[in-house]
Amino acid sequence: MKRQMIKKSKARKPIAREITYLKYGFVITKTENHYCPRCNHALNAGPNYQPKYCDQCGQKINFAGIIWKEDKELGFAKRGEDYESVKN
Ligand SMILES: [Zn+2]
Repeated sequence: MKRQMIKKSKARKPIAREITYLKYGFVITKTENHYCPRCNHALNAGPNYQPKYCDQCGQKINFAGIIWKEDKELGFAKRGEDYESVKN
């Protein structure tokens, strides 16, 4: 019983994934998002804020050792170019 509880609350590292999105609607920006390792829910984490738990499945998240990358602007979107905004 006790062992099971410990196992369940064991923190896991988030999954980092690079995404590209349009900042201000026209700046192509590369950024890194962090996702829950259990349910793949996007965690709203940044250098100033890291949730302790996934708000979708309650998985404990350990952000120790995470290196925060700065957003990188790749250029401007051309008119008519189609970039989907990130939904999650
Ligand atoms: Zn989750």
